[in-house]
Amino acid sequence: MHFRYTVYAVYVVAVGLLLVLSCGDSPLDSPGNPSSSFLAIQLQSDSLVYSSWTQCSDADFDAYILWRSQSAGIEADPSQAEALKIFADDPLQLTWIDSTAVPGETYWYALETRNTSEFSAWSNELSLTLPLNEPDNLTVFFIDPSHGSLSGDAMLICTPNGFNYLIDGGDRRSDWSCGRDRIVPLLDSLGITHLDGIVGTHPHSDHIGGLIAVLEEIPVDKVWDCGWVGDASGTYEDFLNEIQASGAEYIEGNRGMILDWDPDLQVKILHPEPNPGSGNMNNASIVIHLEFEEVSFLFTGDLETDEGETDVLAYYQPEDLRADILKVGHHGSSDATSYTWLDAVQPSYAAIEVGSGNSYGHPHSELLYRLDSRGIPVYRTDQDGTFVITTDGTDITVF
Ligand SMILES: [Zn+2]
Repeated sequence: MHFRYTVYAVYVVAVGLLLVLSCGDSPLDSPGNPSSSFLAIQLQSDSLVYSSWTQCSDADFDAYILWRSQSAGIEADPSQAEALKIFADDPLQLTWIDSTAVPGETYWYALETRNTSEFSAWSNELSLTLPLNEPDNLTVFFIDPSHGSLSGDAMLICTPNGFNYLIDGGDRRSDWSCGRDRIVPLLDSLGITHLDGIVGTHPHSDHIGGLIAVLEEIPVDKVWDCGWVGDASGTYEDFLNEIQASGAEYIEGNRGMILDWDPDLQVKILHPEPNPGSGNMNNASIVIHLEFEEVSFLFTGDLETDEGETDVLAYYQPEDLRADILKVGHHGSSDATSYTWLDAVQPSYAAIEVGSGNSYGHPHSELLYRLDSRGIPVYRTDQDGTFVITTDGTDITVF
């Protein structure tokens, strides 16, 4: 196994330095011109180009325009380029995934920033050649569930043969839904118009709340649910009703079930046992182990240590739980992810899904200490925003 994270760490530091240098009006800017952004691009799989840029904080901001060309010099002659996307009136729209680039071709990208006086400023220009005949990657988006005090889990899994699945969908409230306002726009940017399946790990609103809007807006083939039979919330009722209304196939996901997600993947449900419905709802979470050649992921929902991890550890051998990437249980709560669990899973990376304004103090310092003491690097949505882990089955890249 070779990890390329160090290279990306250097890259991120370089971006950070350039951000400091490039943000804000410099003495070189002409009067009236908006502040320019610094643009970064990254090949995400053999046909997806991920772009991100620094924010323009000018009060008279009007729009970002992302340009692409098959020759250099976009700023000098935009007519030879294509305006891929215009982001008007939204200075916080800072990423875009270009899903229309063709393998084997070379592209140049630049970002134009316009203000309300119709002045323009240009970012740096970058080029990139898409590889030919590369094997397709497995890519997991750890979607930022943050909105006010809302938290949650939301992960999009794009498989090597082009199938797409969600595990959880974040929360919702009357004026916002992680599904409608964050997941569906991400799917749009990736050109995904249909989902092969959705997993609602357990009936808490911060996991299934956002899935309701996804089911309303995108065709979904299958939904795996833990089959909770105890008392649950109105949100869970809405979720079950929406599954039925959408026409998706409802499947109760239980221990030992093999999920036929992609011929190149081995996907298995490790937990819970059938008909969970008493005690702690977190411990009814569907736990999924996913393997792609040499690389594996463990998705744990809100599984806690007592009667959760202990139950899985009693049933399986440690080698069944081994995973390179551990989605940490229960948003980094100290009541999950024990040393025993870490020593069985032996992750190379920990991924924490957690809202930045959550009222529980997640992730807890005790949990961060446990990860640190085992030398496990941590990525967390409250600090990193949405992050992506992609693998060709051997190498792992995080960005
Ligand atoms: Zn939760």
